[in-house]
Amino acid sequence: MTHKARKRFGQNFLQDSHIIDNILMTANPEHGEHWVEIGPGQGALTAPLLATGVKLDLIELDRDLVSYLSHKFADEEQLTLHSQDALTVDFSQLATNSSRLHIIGNLPYNISTPILFHLMKYADHIHSMYFMLQKEVVERICATPGNKRYGRLTIMLQYYCQAEPLFDVPPESFDPQPKVMSAIFKLTPHQKAPVDITNLKHLNQVVTQAFSQRRKTLRNSLKKSFTEAEIYALDINPELRAEAISLTEFARLSNAFTLKNP
Ligand code: SAM
Repeated sequence: MTHKARKRFGQNFLQDSHIIDNILMTANPEHGEHWVEIGPGQGALTAPLLATGVKLDLIELDRDLVSYLSHKFADEEQLTLHSQDALTVDFSQLATNSSRLHIIGNLPYNISTPILFHLMKYADHIHSMYFMLQKEVVERICATPGNKRYGRLTIMLQYYCQAEPLFDVPPESFDPQPKVMSAIFKLTPHQKAPVDITNLKHLNQVVTQAFSQRRKTLRNSLKKSFTEAEIYALDINPELRAEAISLTEFARLSNAFTLKNP
């Protein structure tokens, strides 16, 4: 196919068959499962996915590629092609029967965060997700407290999912080559939320505030919301920086914020 990669759609097509094999081996799709691929592009992951006998929904924004894919996979009965922006897809509608979805994609890097937050709304309908993104973003998603990449993205995604980095993918594996290193990671939605949060908007608000000036202690960064004594009362040291605070501690801050701001 002679498709000129479109930058605005974040198009970097996978060319490396070893990497493609590794992704498939790691994701391990099994006959009869329901998979969704976001941004199938020219079908680098799609063809081996179909070969495993899964039911597959494809979501592709670029109409030229949708047209190409509809011809390429015209005989595949297990396949449904959606010419749509993944950010507008209601994933609960795709999960028609009781079995939860498996989602995979070499995601367009330009909309990586919005796509992940959109998917989190449907976490209850999702069994597992295998994605490729810039390595730096993967490190932020999978970080642990104390790590320099630990931040808002870490906390908000790890509230919904267990996050696991899998392996790196170098620029040479794509055409055109991205400027940065990429990495594959897995998200597994929690069966039960790891912490009780009364108001998720407040968690987001407190976390955003705490990380707005990473170098500052909580006493300073959360000044608008809590006194030093209030932070102490939650059994959190106000002299610590946000990057030292676990999800459980952020949950305590968030729920205390909700009590103060009903
Ligand atoms: N899966 C292919 C591969 O690995 O070679 C293509 C990956 S490329 C990085 C990202 C793909 O996502 C492109 O096909 C692009 O057109 C598509 N895309 C970009 N924005 C999208 C969106 N909002 N919704 C669905 N697909 C999108």
